Amino acid sequence: MQAGNYLNCIGITNNFSCQSNSEIPSGLENNGLNVRTYNFECRSYIDEIDSLPGELRVNGLCYQPCVMAHRNVIAVAEFIRDILMHDPPNGTQARYISSINCVQESGETEWENSCWLDDYEQAVFGQHWVKEQLHSWATYQDIVAHEFFHGLNYQIAKFTYLGESGALDESYADIFAILVTNRYQPDINQWNWKFGQGLLEGVDCIRDVENPSNCRQPDNMEHYDDDGGVHHNNGIHNRAAYNLITSDDGQGNFLFNANSAAQLFYLALRKLGPTSRFIDSRRAVVQAAKTLSITRWRNDSTKIEKLRAIEKAFDQVGIVE
Ligand SMILES: [Zn+2]
Repeated sequence: MQAGNYLNCIGITNNFSCQSNSEIPSGLENNGLNVRTYNFECRSYIDEIDSLPGELRVNGLCYQPCVMAHRNVIAVAEFIRDILMHDPPNGTQARYISSINCVQESGETEWENSCWLDDYEQAVFGQHWVKEQLHSWATYQDIVAHEFFHGLNYQIAKFTYLGESGALDESYADIFAILVTNRYQPDINQWNWKFGQGLLEGVDCIRDVENPSNCRQPDNMEHYDDDGGVHHNNGIHNRAAYNLITSDDGQGNFLFNANSAAQLFYLALRKLGPTSRFIDSRRAVVQAAKTLSITRWRNDSTKIEKLRAIEKAFDQVGIVE
């Protein structure tokens, strides 16, 4: 049995155990939203992949991180239902499955990562030691949202996870994660654009959507790196999204909010596919805005300015025709 201490996001230290000895299923199931959060008890999600998602079984000491993870998934599920109004294909019901306390190598307690498993339609989350305390990655709202939006991307666009299409997969997951975490902050000036803040010791954040260069990412097509990988070049598309969401009418009034930006990127995502490139995303966002101009935004007096702002946002990062 591996044990340690767990420090949650608000700084309360609890003992932490990977293994479990009691069942508290009611806290980890939300039948209305079809959200289920499982404890994988520090088993390898690779070696024991057929055992996923694990058990809805946690002990009291692991209760808090499991419940925090579960709440984070519920927030994503509510956003997808209420703001995106997304229905899965083929009339199936949306479901949100995750396994926390996963490791890659059997016998370890630490796995500093999380990922979405397309074939299993679920997310897996690791944890890492910080000063003798284990931090679950699933206790971070932005990380949880990012992984589940990979699931949405897969349902809709099935991006090939390479080159520009792979970077779009990463960027759309980042953009939606930022929208989820800032959803209830009406003042865009107050938004937090940093992703994975506080996750890794000595590192401010994993990505910065406002200033990608803070995380050594490019923020313009001039610096696109063919060898950089999907977690590098997504900075360019992220910055375009930042430009778009923060655009104003010239008098200090923002043109978008979390809901309208989410609707826009969601509709754009529906126009993208496995081999889409950054320029395809620009075209898709423009087309999405035109569609919204005659539907949800038809009474919006700024819809023309919104269209101009979209073009400018992509121009500024060099994603141009
Ligand atoms: Zn990702």
